[in-house]
Amino acid sequence: MPNSRIYRSARPALATGAPRTGQPLRVLAIGSLLTVLSAALLVTGGVWWSTTRADQAAKDRQFQTVSYALTTSAEKISYDQESVAYWDEAVINTRNAFDEKWVDVNLGVWMYDYFKHDRVAVLDANDNVLYAMADGKQTTVGDRAPNAAVASLAAQLRQRIATGALDNYEAGKTRIPRVDDVGFVDGRPAAISVMVLVPHSNAVVQARGTECLIASVRFLDSSFLTDLANAHFLDSVRFSGSGDIAPDEQSYPLTTKGGEVLGSFVWTPKLAGARILSEVLPVLAAGLVVISLAIAFLIRQLRQTYTELVTSEAHATHLALHDTLTGLPNRAFLNERLDDALNDVRQGRGQLALVFLDLDRFKQVNDSLGHAAGDALICELAGHLTATLKAGNVLARMGGDEFAIVMRDIKGRVEVEALCRDIVAVVSRPFDVLGGQAMVGISIGVAIAPTAGLDRSELARKADIALYQAKRSGGQHFEFFTEDMSHTVQQRRDLEIDLRRALETGNELEVVFQPICAARDLELSGVEALLRWTHPRIGAVSPYTFIGLAEDCGVIDQLGDLVLRRACAVAGAWAVDTVSVNVSAIQLRQNDFAERVLALLDETGMPPTSLDIEITESTLIGGSEASGRNLKALRAAGVKISLDDFGTGYSSLSYLMKLEVDRIKIDRSFVRHLGESAQSESIVQAIVTMAHAVGVTVTAEGVETREQQDFLVDIGCNHLQGYLLSPPLSALRMVEFIAGNGVPCAASSSDTAAA
Ligand code: C2E
Ligand code: CA
Ligand code: CA
Repeated sequence: MPNSRIYRSARPALATGAPRTGQPLRVLAIGSLLTVLSAALLVTGGVWWSTTRADQAAKDRQFQTVSYALTTSAEKISYDQESVAYWDEAVINTRNAFDEKWVDVNLGVWMYDYFKHDRVAVLDANDNVLYAMADGKQTTVGDRAPNAAVASLAAQLRQRIATGALDNYEAGKTRIPRVDDVGFVDGRPAAISVMVLVPHSNAVVQARGTECLIASVRFLDSSFLTDLANAHFLDSVRFSGSGDIAPDEQSYPLTTKGGEVLGSFVWTPKLAGARILSEVLPVLAAGLVVISLAIAFLIRQLRQTYTELVTSEAHATHLALHDTLTGLPNRAFLNERLDDALNDVRQGRGQLALVFLDLDRFKQVNDSLGHAAGDALICELAGHLTATLKAGNVLARMGGDEFAIVMRDIKGRVEVEALCRDIVAVVSRPFDVLGGQAMVGISIGVAIAPTAGLDRSELARKADIALYQAKRSGGQHFEFFTEDMSHTVQQRRDLEIDLRRALETGNELEVVFQPICAARDLELSGVEALLRWTHPRIGAVSPYTFIGLAEDCGVIDQLGDLVLRRACAVAGAWAVDTVSVNVSAIQLRQNDFAERVLALLDETGMPPTSLDIEITESTLIGGSEASGRNLKALRAAGVKISLDDFGTGYSSLSYLMKLEVDRIKIDRSFVRHLGESAQSESIVQAIVTMAHAVGVTVTAEGVETREQQDFLVDIGCNHLQGYLLSPPLSALRMVEFIAGNGVPCAASSSDTAAA
């Protein structure tokens, strides 16, 4: 499949506009990732910071709470004591007449029940224990010496009384004298308060130094801790005398008023921050994951859309610059590259060749084998051409059967010639298309820069002129542009303009008639209408030149109509069997050709059986469907069909049998050699035999000598035409020719109307 190969060769072009999907998306992805990460960092940091602050605040508050609870605990005991220490009965039942029962109920158990004092002792004036209570029960007093800490506080209180504390109290300056502190009782930390018992009325008087004291103890390691924990929501509060504090625990030192550290209160701080953090972090993490996934999804979608966009853009660019049938670069692409290459040449960097290629007889392949076969042939050709290219050359399909190559950086003409020869050789081989074979040729025109020019359109024009010359030389051939060609082309352009003008006026155009005689008796049998153009400046222009020109520039239909109309109008009235008119293949291809011819016959009154249409073999063989239909319709109406120039084209004798024609005209080139070349004689002999075998009559054209005439008569040729009998004659002279009725075609006639 040549197509895929071409596509590959055209591939690098696409690379220039290839999608660069990664770059912007990578930036976007990294940007998004950084944004998400920094957002995550910021939020986590913020949460961490605020929870840490909250924790610190909670710790501070708990510390204050414990501090306050401790400093007030001893004071509170003394406040509790005031409820019993300022009482006449208390003084009477302790100092004056000790009533053990009363004291137990009112100073011992009461203090325990009501104020949770763990120990209560009543001391007499000598600080001996009068009464003692422990945990709500009276205890027996042993050696009457109070606990060391209590004794120390009692001694301090006595000291204060001795220095006028009671005087100040009685003068209303202070509250009841007392001393409080913390210390160890029974080996346990405790708040201790010692207060003097005083009467509340003047009914009871006690001399200084005879007062009893009440000492209350509240342990700081049991119910106190429970109360503390409950009141202030502290966890695992305990007293530690040894300093065993875990890192996550908080502590407050228990210090006596004298500054002695007895131990620490230890608790596990309740830190909301850590909990918040532990609760918020998973939610935060989940949120981040969701956001990351959403962004990833978005980027994916974006990437897909972007890729699609870039791909379709690349596809569109490729389409805009490439031919859809072959995948080769198109004209626009080639122009781009050519401009590029010309830039290099302009700057003195090497030479380049612009090579134009045009298939010969491609139209016939299309017409005879169909467009699908034509397309297949173009594709195969594209593959072959691609294979002949060297790196750096650009091959483009310019449209139809036209291709072009830009060869960059050529070393010289030789290199280009080699490529052209390769291409001509490749194309001269038959192409396999859709199961059949097709033979085409190729014409090549080359223009080299800088010699032929430095401008793209100038170079293209010159390559085109060279191509035109190659075509005119018969195709399957290459030409390099020369300045003379340019001249020829200009002349042709001028001639084309003149021909169009001649067609408009009709003045310079004349139809002449050449007699066709029966071989047997040389009686006039018919005439062939031949067109003449007398150019006002140049003079007579050869029909070979202007008929070809008319075909090339699209006026052959008009020209053909003119000949047909004049021939029928003029010769229709003559006493001849047939009036032959040359019809070009292009004319025959028109859908309504037969219709128009028959209408014209009707108009001019010439019977269809009198009209003979001369066509060439190529018209028949390479003819389109329309050509076939036209010929069929004309024959059905009685019009004769002659095969002109027989033997020059596709002629093969066996082929002749298939052709539906009435007459063949043996080409002049065979007739010319009769009497000189045995080969020509045998060919002509064979043609006549074969034609007669299939019921086709034979006319020999270009009969110039008596020998030729004699030979042709001998072998049974039906009609003769040629200068020997008569050159083409103007209508007027033809009338005179016919007027010599009965007179056989005469070689003596000389007419200047001949070309
Ligand atoms: P053709 O159809 O083969 O016409 C015969 C040509 O041979 C004519 O040339 C004629 O003048 C020339 N000729 C006749 N007898 C002799 C002879 O004995 N010796 C030599 N050497 N030539 C002879 P002409 O008129 O120059 O026409 C050339 C060709 O132009 C024609 O070849 C025909 O193909 C084409 N042509 C002429 N008129 C028309 C026309 O009206 N329509 C079309 N489509 N083609 C035409
Ligand atoms: Ca002819
Ligand atoms: Ca001829």
